[in-house]
Order: sequence, then C-alpha cells, then structure tokens
Amino acid sequence: MYKSFLIKYAEIGVKGKNRYLFEDRLCDQIRYALTRCEGKFDVVKSQGRIFVNACADFDYDEAVENLKTVFGITGICPVVHVEDEGFEKLCQDVIGYIDQAYSDKNFTFKVDARRARKNYPKNSMEINCDIGEVLLDAFPDMRVDVHKPDVMLHIEIREKIYIYSIVIPGPGGLPVGTNGKGMLLLSGGIDSPVAGYMISKRGVKLDAVYFNAPPYTSERATQKVIDLARIVAKYSGPIHLHIINFTDIQLYIYDQCPHDELTIIMRRYMMRIAEELAGKNGCLGLITGESIGQVASQTMQSLMATNDVCTMPVYRPLIGFDKQEIVEISEKLHTYETSIQPYEDCCTIFVAKHPVTKPNLNVIRIHERNLDEKIDELVRTALETDEVIEIVYR
Ligand code: ATP
Ligand code: MG
Repeated sequence: MYKSFLIKYAEIGVKGKNRYLFEDRLCDQIRYALTRCEGKFDVVKSQGRIFVNACADFDYDEAVENLKTVFGITGICPVVHVEDEGFEKLCQDVIGYIDQAYSDKNFTFKVDARRARKNYPKNSMEINCDIGEVLLDAFPDMRVDVHKPDVMLHIEIREKIYIYSIVIPGPGGLPVGTNGKGMLLLSGGIDSPVAGYMISKRGVKLDAVYFNAPPYTSERATQKVIDLARIVAKYSGPIHLHIINFTDIQLYIYDQCPHDELTIIMRRYMMRIAEELAGKNGCLGLITGESIGQVASQTMQSLMATNDVCTMPVYRPLIGFDKQEIVEISEKLHTYETSIQPYEDCCTIFVAKHPVTKPNLNVIRIHERNLDEKIDELVRTALETDEVIEIVYR
C-alpha cells in the first residue's frame, strides 16, 4: 500500500538560518541508513518536508527498522500520495486509505486537513467536516473525537495530496555530522557503548579507542568490543576503532606504583593516550561511560584525578544515571547481551583488593614520577602500534 514515508523532525526545525544544513545532513543520514535495505529510494526535500520515496518494490519493515536508526527523525509516517482530481475522488481515496490501513474500524478519529495550496476549492475546515462525514457514512464503527482521537488523519493539499495517519516514533536527537567528532573510550562493559550512543544522538560522529592487554586479555575480549562498536555504528555511522596495546604500560605501573592506586594511574594513562589520538584524528572531546560513585575509580575524587590529565573536554553522559537506568538503555540498544559476556577487560586484571576511593591528586602525581624513566617511550610505542579497524554496521 505504501510507497513513501513523510519524515518528521523536531529540533532541527528550529535552527534558523542553519536549518537547511541540518536538513541536508538528515537526508544524507537517511540515504546512508537505507543503503542497508533492499530496493532503491529517493530522499527529497520539498517545501519544508522530507520524503522517502521507494523507486521500486521494497520491504516495508526493513525500511522502517533502518529509518529508526537515524538521529534527527522524530516520526516516520507512511504516506499515500494521490493526484488532485476533484473532491469526490479525494473522498474515495481517503475511504480506500482507511479501509486498507485499519482492519478494525472501531476507533475514534479526527481529520486534520492542511491546505498549503490556497487555490483548492475548499478551505481546511470544510475539508475536515466533509471528509469526516464521508468516513462516518462509510464506516459506521468509526466515531469522531476532536480532543483525544485514536487516529489523527492528516490530509495535506499541496501539488499532490498526501494522506497519512500513522506516526512511527523515530529516535529523536540531531543528525550525526552536525556536531563534530568525539573519541569514545570503549570498553567491553555496559556503560561505554550507551555513552557513545547518547553523545552520537546529539549529532556527534564517533571514533573509539579500546585498550587491551594481551595475553592477559583474550582475542575474544577484543572481538566483544568490535561487536559492541558495530551495534553503536548502527546509529552513529562508521566508527574508526583504535586498538591500543596497553600491556607494557600496565605492567610498568604495576611494578612502580602502589597497587591501591593502580586503577587511577592506569585511567590517567588511558585518558592521556585517548586525548593524543583524539587530537590526531580531529576529535573535539573525549567520551566515557563514567557515572558518579559507580565504582572506586568513579568517586568525585577519582574522577578529579582522572580528569586532571585532560585538556580536552570529557563528556560523561551517564554521570547522573543509576546502573539500572543504564542497563535499560543498553537493553533497548541490544548492546546488553554482548556487554555481559564474561571476557576479562584490562581494568579487571591486576586489580587491587582495596583500591583507593578518595585518591589525593598530589600523592598520585608524586607516585607517577616513579614512571619517569620509561613511561614516555612506552606511551609512544603504544601509539605507534595503534591498530585501526573501520567498523561499519551492515
Ligand atoms: P564500562 O561498563 O563502560 O566498562 P565500567 O563501569 O566498567 O564502565 P570502568 O571500568 O571504571 O567502569 O571504566 C570507566 C570508563 O573508562 C568506561 O566507561 C570507558 O569509557 C573507559 N574505559 C575503561 N576501560 C577501558 C578500556 N579497556 N578501553 C577503553 N576505555 C575504557
Ligand atoms: Mg569496564
């Protein structure tokens, strides 16, 4: 029945002079998401509207599924286009539309006509009333409710006439690419993929970095991170995933520094390396899955100690979330099942029984001096052996 979708977008509608940039970006992202579907589509901007028109046969569910991954879309409306061949014909078209779209006609409705073309012989109020009457006659089970209708039937009179009543919610947010790029510190855990999703939803393109520690962490742990990145890439678009071998740095810290400070010092080196990679790759900030108080390394004191080494902004979209709230998002994203696979991460090896929960920044800085002899070289080597994988969701 449907060959076209009307795309609704909210926030990008209010960007003033830049509006067309956002719309163009949204069209690009829609085109990209639809490359994953069978069939060919035209994505067109027309009079402040975006339409996705199928050029040939397509799979409706597959198209909707993929459109639901495009940030910036608030509603996906399957729409029927009809030619203007007089009001009688329009009434027949609307009856045909309702008949096909709703097998059960026991619902309340309201007609919402918009006459963008002012030379149409009836005004909006007249169209609302007349179509309403025609539908009541055709389908005795339908009832009018102008306040809270089950079905809002939209009829837009433009060059052609558009009929739609179904609005499938989109993910909201802003089109990826309208807000620069960020470097996501992606571990195999529950939190960081959610953090990446949330920042990407604000229009930010993502790169990612994963620190592994072979042979203490397995191939499977790295694969898990690749799998998670692929799920995030469904929404964010392609991600360059940097894999950094952290083993020697970690062993060196373990040798030279107090064990209860290991995690904090390790996190400081992760941030330093991530920032270096971010700068080299045109990223404007770091993104982590930290949340206040979740673990010893995420108390306010620990976050201060970690943040101390960064000059770039660090975005922590989960900072005020409870674990359960994060889990709920990860379940919706379908990263959860992958995140809970039991492969060891470099944060969990050599970990102290009683890590400091209130690290003193000055003490940490002093203990880090124990690393002066070799750390610069180890960091350089880690950066030089950076392995980059292009992650694309297909
Ligand atoms: P997550 O569920 O995201 O792993 P977590 O609750 O396990 O988070 P930590 O392990 O303390 O918390 O990590 C805090 C944040 O540091 C992570 O959300 C992630 O952004 C980053 N991080 C931790 N370990 C790594 C790693 N091995 N590689 C890349 N980033 C990491
Ligand atoms: Mg973790």
